[in-house]
Amino acid sequence: MYVNNVIEKIKAKHPGQKEFQQAVEEVLTSLAPAIQKDKKYQENAILERLVVPDRQIHFRVTWVDDSGCVQVNQGYRIEFNSAIGPYKGGLRFHPSVNESIIKFLGFEQIFKNSLTTLAMGGGKGGSDFDPKGKSDGEVMRFCQAFMNELYRHIGAHTDVPAGDIGVGGREIGYMFGQYRKLTNRFDGVLTGKGLSWGGSLVRPEATGYGCVYFAEEMLKERGESLSGKVCTISGSGNVAIYTAEKLYHLGAKPVSVSDSKGMIYDEAGIDVALLKELKEIKRVSLEEYAKAKPSAKYTKASDYKPGTNGVWSIPCFAAFPSATENELGLDDAKTLLQNGCKCVAEGANMPSTLQAMDLFLKAKICYGPAKAANAGGVAVSGLEMAQNASMRSWDFEMVDKTLHNIMESIFANASETAKEFGDPTNLVLGANIAGFRKVANAMIDQGVL
Ligand code: GLU
Repeated sequence: MYVNNVIEKIKAKHPGQKEFQQAVEEVLTSLAPAIQKDKKYQENAILERLVVPDRQIHFRVTWVDDSGCVQVNQGYRIEFNSAIGPYKGGLRFHPSVNESIIKFLGFEQIFKNSLTTLAMGGGKGGSDFDPKGKSDGEVMRFCQAFMNELYRHIGAHTDVPAGDIGVGGREIGYMFGQYRKLTNRFDGVLTGKGLSWGGSLVRPEATGYGCVYFAEEMLKERGESLSGKVCTISGSGNVAIYTAEKLYHLGAKPVSVSDSKGMIYDEAGIDVALLKELKEIKRVSLEEYAKAKPSAKYTKASDYKPGTNGVWSIPCFAAFPSATENELGLDDAKTLLQNGCKCVAEGANMPSTLQAMDLFLKAKICYGPAKAANAGGVAVSGLEMAQNASMRSWDFEMVDKTLHNIMESIFANASETAKEFGDPTNLVLGANIAGFRKVANAMIDQGVL
């Protein structure tokens, strides 16, 4: 009752914010048994407090393009919850960005960051700026203009942004430079930095590697593994690329990737070196992959029919949705299950619709929800903050091993919590309740704020 009331109030208050509503509904519904069990959460109005960000910063970003025209974009930073640490979460630059998307991402980040075992609160930001097709100079001027406002709201102990869709090492570099210029300070104020100026090894790989480590943990409990298995991946950003790389390390075969224009099905196995060259260096469409590799079949996104010919129609043992929110709907989920898929590990944030998620839970396959499965990225951001604070840098093995341990403990925590509530395979419930309790208990300890 209490949970439903809070969900209904959010829907009535923000009727246009579909993604935010979806994230709130997914989390709060699964928290119901924990709220029922312990009255202190309702007595302290924890849910009402959790769904309202501490503060929302909306700002204008004004910059000049290569033809000398003045361009205006919308900038956002939503500081959601800092009960267990400074606000932490990425920046997304994509034309679809709006308040609803940043709020859903910021809300999810609270629970994800809590699960990492590190001291990080939840926040998210970004802009409707589209880096695609822009020159390096344009991207630099945009990032500088974005930081001209953002710098006054962030800090190593206040709010530490990082990358997300459309924001990688290049953008973090331009933003860090402008922060330093404006403040005359060299702080660990952003993560995902370059290695020679405070970045951490394994940060680019972390989300993809972590997601595969998580999938392995889920399978291990059932006496299975990824070795020798065919896997599908969507997306072709750093999450997808390093998911493919880690799958090969474990003896599996990734056979697909996608971008906004189309998808590649390469039965011979995705060529990771080629993918890196096309996406990290040349920044071109996947059509070029098909031209370079005869075993690859390219399908245009405009020809997709859900459940029929997209990435999720390729028969696979394990699926790794690593593109964007709601990319995997009910029809896709049905096709995956019909084709014998045994494991779904979410590299993107909220890639499955509520209906697809329900179907995976009912089928009791290994389903790793984003907040748990993709927490490796922000976890290594936390390790980057630790390295910055101690003025040391760790070697690759040390970061990778710590990441692996963190993913194991996220799985153990989610799985034990799911068992505690009598629904042992439901990691949505397990991850959400485990992430929630740490934050909610901290809020209660710290009083009514
Ligand atoms: N954007 C990533 C996420 O969704 C990483 C955030 C970070 O490193 O702060 O978790």
